Amino acid sequence: MSTVARLDVATYTVPTDAPEADGTLAWDSTTLVVVHAVADDGTTGLGWTYAGRACQTLVQDQLAEVVVGRDVLDVPGSLEAMVRACRNLGRPGVVSCAIAAVDIALWDLKARLLDLPLCRLLGQVHQQVPVYGSGGFTSYDDAQLRAQLELWAHELQIPRVKMKIGQSWGTREGRDLRRVRQAREIVGPEVELYVDANGAYSAGQAVRVGRALADAEVTWFEEPVSSDDLAGLRQVRAGVLADVAAGEYGYDLTYFARMCAAGAVDCLQVDVTRCGGVTEWLRAAAVAQAHGLQVSAHCAPALHAHVAAAVPNLRHLEYFHDHVRIEHLLFDGALEPRAGVLVPDEGRAGLGLKLRTTDAEAFRRG
Ligand SMILES: [Mg+2]
Repeated sequence: MSTVARLDVATYTVPTDAPEADGTLAWDSTTLVVVHAVADDGTTGLGWTYAGRACQTLVQDQLAEVVVGRDVLDVPGSLEAMVRACRNLGRPGVVSCAIAAVDIALWDLKARLLDLPLCRLLGQVHQQVPVYGSGGFTSYDDAQLRAQLELWAHELQIPRVKMKIGQSWGTREGRDLRRVRQAREIVGPEVELYVDANGAYSAGQAVRVGRALADAEVTWFEEPVSSDDLAGLRQVRAGVLADVAAGEYGYDLTYFARMCAAGAVDCLQVDVTRCGGVTEWLRAAAVAQAHGLQVSAHCAPALHAHVAAAVPNLRHLEYFHDHVRIEHLLFDGALEPRAGVLVPDEGRAGLGLKLRTTDAEAFRRG
């Protein structure tokens, strides 16, 4: 039996390539907490979460002691031990993100020990994973928006793109509508056009905006209202033609079950770096499937490609500009989309990724 010998953790903060904002938040850097799970024979698994440095402290002070010494092959057992150890800290938020980084590293480690690509270890339902280009920040000017949409739709031939709306908590409705119509002109009639308001609108306003955007053939309206407002999501869903999506802030199965049961979404979003890792991502997808829903993988494309390929009810994966940039900067093996799909590399064990430690050092904190 191979056991977990130790967890190594480091935090990196990478500046964005331009100011980024959505409807309810602005940022100029992105932090990731990277975990290496090391087995007693020296084999190492890699995982990370896009969350704050507090996750590093949690992994070191709270999670390592319950994972070290456990059977490498028993990842769900390790997850359960981590969840129980954090009872008094509260599962949602940074705790769940820290758990996710460890769970992902443990799955990568298990796959490497068995010398299998992670998607084959999980069971590969799909040979390829459809992606959509995601960015279109409210902080972009017209030229930046055009350049990004042209890259995805025309150069990379990705047949789906998403942009941010709901600027300044929904107070720039006119600019939102104008930008989406501009986006439709840029990408042409064949490309699916998605919008994400990040919870910026009220329900009535979201219905108005959603109906106004029907002429631009918007087919995906993400977080038109706060994802905590299940009744509001349901109201918008009833009032617009586009699919309503939410779930990126889901940290446990109860959250996903409640959102699905409320009839709040047409497609459930699940983030492997937040929800508790690969183990819980698969379970969340099962919750969605039991409600007749598809799932969409939220951001972190390098981490999602393998797990997304392993569930039957996959719609697509969010190829998020900020994370794409970071993952190609810091990790060897980050996949490139071809004709709108990512194909997990069957020639590499685990996630097929390796941290470029020398390049990453410039972004290391503490
Ligand atoms: Mg979103």
